[in-house]
Amino acid sequence: QPDTETSVQITNLTVEFDGFRAVDDVSLLMLKGQIHFLIGPNGAGKTTLVDALTGLVPATGSAIYRGMDLLAMKTNKIIRAEVGRTFQTATVFDELSVLQNLDIAGGLRRRAWRLPFARRGVPDYVEAALETIGLGAVRDKPAGILAHGQKQWLEIGMLLVQDAKVMFLDEPVAGMNADEREETGELLRRIGGDRTIIVIEHDMDFVRSFAEWVTVMHAGKLLTAGTVEQVQADARVQEVYLGT
Ligand code: ADP
Repeated sequence: QPDTETSVQITNLTVEFDGFRAVDDVSLLMLKGQIHFLIGPNGAGKTTLVDALTGLVPATGSAIYRGMDLLAMKTNKIIRAEVGRTFQTATVFDELSVLQNLDIAGGLRRRAWRLPFARRGVPDYVEAALETIGLGAVRDKPAGILAHGQKQWLEIGMLLVQDAKVMFLDEPVAGMNADEREETGELLRRIGGDRTIIVIEHDMDFVRSFAEWVTVMHAGKLLTAGTVEQVQADARVQEVYLGT
């Protein structure tokens, strides 16, 4: 049962590009301990909303997390406030090993990496993340050789070492096969706990497998929100999907 504690409170969030409102006056509560799905046709404004919440595009309105307004913060400060995101195309360093990728990501949060592993050992939080994402067997391999699914898990591991309590995941199962999708589902359930996880997702089978809260965006606005069954039964939702 999700917490009723509010994690992120978004009020009147608007993003304009040259007068075009990519996100238009969105107000939304994200509850702690919930996996929150954000769906909607292409161009609905989902990525731009997450960009605004992670300091990548300027926005008006507010997004309050632990008393801080994320919209007024730069990305590095947002990371230190334990809010992180993944991208559709994994942003790992291909030449570095899985361990090194995790170490660097942890260092961004902790500003603590000074010496190579050989001289200080692998930090505990890196070992813990490695185990959670199930990449122990490839820990010393360059990230560039990982399978698509493994790269996505590595990205999630990079958020774990940053202690991200709020995680925005951009289509984490896109391009994955059925087994990888299932493993990703298990991973999200495993790390869900006291975190707030917001997932932009197109794969409705994946969304349905969670039975959690779904928010639908269309043309920059919030169209509706509810359980998967509720939003799928909503005539307005069917209309916007058929209309694209
Ligand atoms: P979604 O993630 O739901 O597919 P996006 O957030 O990517 O939607 O895009 C929302 C709208 O904003 C689209 O019409 C897109 O073309 C526009 N848009 C996104 N980024 C920019 C940008 N940097 N400059 C201008 N328009 C943009």
